[in-house]
Amino acid sequence: MTATILDGKALAAEIRADVKARVAARIAAGKPAPGLATVLVGDNPASQSYVRSKRKASAEVGIESFGYELPATASQAEVEKLVSELNADPKVNGILVQLPLPGHLDEERVLNLISIEKDVDGFHPVNIGRLAQKGREPSFVPCTPEGCMYMIQKSVPKIEGINAVVLGRSNIVGMPVALLLVRANATVTICHSRTRNLPDVVRQADVLVAAVGKPEMVRGDWVKPGAVVIDVGINRVDDPSSPKGYRMVGDVNFDEVKEVAGVISPVPGGVGPMTIAMLLRNTLHGAELSDK
Ligand code: NDP
Repeated sequence: MTATILDGKALAAEIRADVKARVAARIAAGKPAPGLATVLVGDNPASQSYVRSKRKASAEVGIESFGYELPATASQAEVEKLVSELNADPKVNGILVQLPLPGHLDEERVLNLISIEKDVDGFHPVNIGRLAQKGREPSFVPCTPEGCMYMIQKSVPKIEGINAVVLGRSNIVGMPVALLLVRANATVTICHSRTRNLPDVVRQADVLVAAVGKPEMVRGDWVKPGAVVIDVGINRVDDPSSPKGYRMVGDVNFDEVKEVAGVISPVPGGVGPMTIAMLLRNTLHGAELSDK
């Protein structure tokens, strides 16, 4: 049996089309276009490329983007002043501070300053705290974890009661994915670098989310036959046969695992495209919050 391959690009296109239609309906009703402010500090090429894609994707669905670029030498006070101004700007419904910030800046203080009503990345501790609390609703859910959940919901008829294993416990992926799965009433095991007998634990998973940042770590014999496997990893490995000299792989050994799993998300073309789609959806949600 070969697994069904989840097409992240197609699923992301579905979300973008929905956002585009809802943005057009808002504008037709006389409301302003949703606004996304992106804050880029310094000249990290990967960050520059991520921010460019976010701005382009915003324009494609009718979201207005406001780009702010500060030099790598920007002080904590300058970054904080910008975030405070964006908090107060009614045209801005979402504030995205591209991480990582240069080392001399206090990332936590900057993220804590973002208004929880404009926290489209969902990293504010109040939003994460609400995600963890029963009966509370965060204003925003982090984009990559939300993208993983969308893929799981498409693949599993009933999440309630299933065994889910999340490999990784970072603030931005592993932990929020685990919290979302618990909210959906899955039984969740969180694994990390100190977990013992990792393959045995992973083999219990009906749904496995791998977010470790270790190329092709999850092997075919770690996976329960028929499981749903969501691969969040983005890792560059040397490949002399490719024109670029490298290729991108996930945290899952795709060739082995696709022979065992029921459903698998590929890298690239899996979770990656979902992240930006969810950012657009969150920005629209920010505009809807500001209507109230
Ligand atoms: P982090 O490095 O912040 O976290 C990695 C987690 O994996 C940690 O919890 C760590 O455990 C755990 N871990 C590391 N090594 C092992 C091991 N050998 N066995 C078991 N657990 C281990 O990574 P991120 O969560 O930020 O990212 C994970 C991956 O997802 C990366 O490849 C990243 O590029 C990708 N990513 C993809 C996105 C997308 O849009 N598709 C968005 C964000 C990230 P411990 O806590 O004990 O250190």
